[in-house]
Amino acid sequence: MEDYIVSARKYRPMNFDSVVGQRALTITLKNAIATGKLAHAYLFCGPRGVGKTTCARIFARTINCQQLTPEGEACGQCESCLAFSEQRSYNIHELDAASNNSVEDIRSLIEQVRVPPQIGRYKVFIIDEVHMLSPAAFNAFLKTLEEPPHHVIFILATTEKHKILPTILSRCQIYDFNRMNVNDTVDHLKYVAQKEGIEAEAEALNVIAQKADGGMRDALSIFDQVVSFTGGHVTYQRVIETLNVLDYEYYFRITDMLLDNKVSDSMLLLNEILNKGFDGHHFITGLASHMRDLLVSRDASTLPLLEVSDSVRARYSDQAQRCDTKFLYRAIKVCNDCDLNYRASKNKRLLVELTLIRVAQLTTDDADAWCGRSPKKTLKPLFKQQVAPAPSTSGATTVSAPQATTSAAPTSVQQAPAASQYTGPQAPPSPQASGVAALFAKQQSQGEKAVPTLKQGQLSVSIRQPQKSDAPVPQQSVKQEPTVHTVEEDFIFNENDIRYYWLEFANQLPIEENATAGRMKNLRPKLLTDTTFEVAVENELVSRKMQSMAPHIVKHMRTQLRNSKIEMTVRVIQSNEAKRAYGNVEQFKMMSNKNPVLLKFKEAFGLELN
Ligand SMILES: [Zn+2]
Repeated sequence: MEDYIVSARKYRPMNFDSVVGQRALTITLKNAIATGKLAHAYLFCGPRGVGKTTCARIFARTINCQQLTPEGEACGQCESCLAFSEQRSYNIHELDAASNNSVEDIRSLIEQVRVPPQIGRYKVFIIDEVHMLSPAAFNAFLKTLEEPPHHVIFILATTEKHKILPTILSRCQIYDFNRMNVNDTVDHLKYVAQKEGIEAEAEALNVIAQKADGGMRDALSIFDQVVSFTGGHVTYQRVIETLNVLDYEYYFRITDMLLDNKVSDSMLLLNEILNKGFDGHHFITGLASHMRDLLVSRDASTLPLLEVSDSVRARYSDQAQRCDTKFLYRAIKVCNDCDLNYRASKNKRLLVELTLIRVAQLTTDDADAWCGRSPKKTLKPLFKQQVAPAPSTSGATTVSAPQATTSAAPTSVQQAPAASQYTGPQAPPSPQASGVAALFAKQQSQGEKAVPTLKQGQLSVSIRQPQKSDAPVPQQSVKQEPTVHTVEEDFIFNENDIRYYWLEFANQLPIEENATAGRMKNLRPKLLTDTTFEVAVENELVSRKMQSMAPHIVKHMRTQLRNSKIEMTVRVIQSNEAKRAYGNVEQFKMMSNKNPVLLKFKEAFGLELN
């Protein structure tokens, strides 16, 4: 009976041309050999299974070949080539530093370095996972690496370049191997399947390639596994069953439901998915990826980022036409929030369900309220005709008008259909107007999402309040220039986001601001409204410091969180507002303030509080 050889070995490339997905790199190596410009040491970096060791072997074989082909490849027929293919060549030595990393291992390797080759010109030493060498072994090796005999070439391979000592890096020519893209992997799998006489659907190979995540060796071993499970009929259905992959069909279906606002249907589908044994977290990250794929499908220029087969690409393109970009941005954000909060959540299923509800709501007019956004910067007049001849009102009265009538007709506003989107025109912001706008913003920040309405004789015209600080008062704008233009969208965010970028800002402060940075790290900004966060400080001194930093911090937040309305306030904690530990987090903070060792302990063990 014929010995079974795994595909990764059987189809290991034998020359530079057949190496998949590393074209630029193999051409460079080939040219170096052709021109005789060889270095003493090479460092091959890159993820696992992308061809580092394979390239090292081909390199060793090629530089020893006695009659290179015109293309610069090894001939495969000379004595040296034959010795290589029969694995009896003494010109290649491989050391796996992951398991042989002691000084003794390196010493015995150095012994062999001294002996010149009998056939061929070079001895090639391949040290795999070179970052695993012990410090002592590293040092012993360094001396040889500095002045190797002229017949020796070292090829060091590593998956973790950052762990290589600078002293080694400076002595090597460095080659960075890419992750394979899905299409390259699929093409190679197709080739292998064809050679093996196996029927394989393109979709199925695509799933394998995705699962292998850029590693050809992994892709081939998954392929072998699937072939043995399916008896040589590699279909999409069998592959997703074997690999326990969540069918993209579900994502297409659930996205359709969400777009149609069918919350209950999406819940049922989620139930079906969970019943099949899939994890909620897995599902939600998959949904986020699906939304991302839809987003890149909307634009021809980003379409190449979509790594799927042609038939699926068409489906993505179809569904993408149904979603607008804003919906996708927000859906990704909502899913991502769920992803971040998943681990800490006590009721994970509810979290996933809530996320689905929120995404479904994004398609409705009340999307803003659901995302915790500020109201849209749009005016939605009930009666379009009457808006134009609105009575002229002075700036001062327009301010009080919305307040006075706030409670009068808020419901009618919320039920108002989004007949047309009218956004305030950008009249040059006069000092008066901006002052009024500031007042508006202030009212807004008091937490009341009041929708100002303006009575116009018998007709009640409802106007959604513009919040953009440089936008003029709605009523004014209505009467002045009824031109329409769109206002750039702001992104939503939550308290965790604020805290994250707060810390990021603190960490970016220059060294002379170390004290401030430390102080900032001890403060926990709180979100008061959708866009205003508050920092409570201990005393007036810190307060003044924070006030002076505020413009920079706010600018940072606005840029990072892509929201132009973020404001920051500073408040001094009252003395009677005694600091009390309310939850685990606060308790731990107070304890660690007294005893900083606790913080180190927490970091060392990667602990999280909730
Ligand atoms: Zn040869």
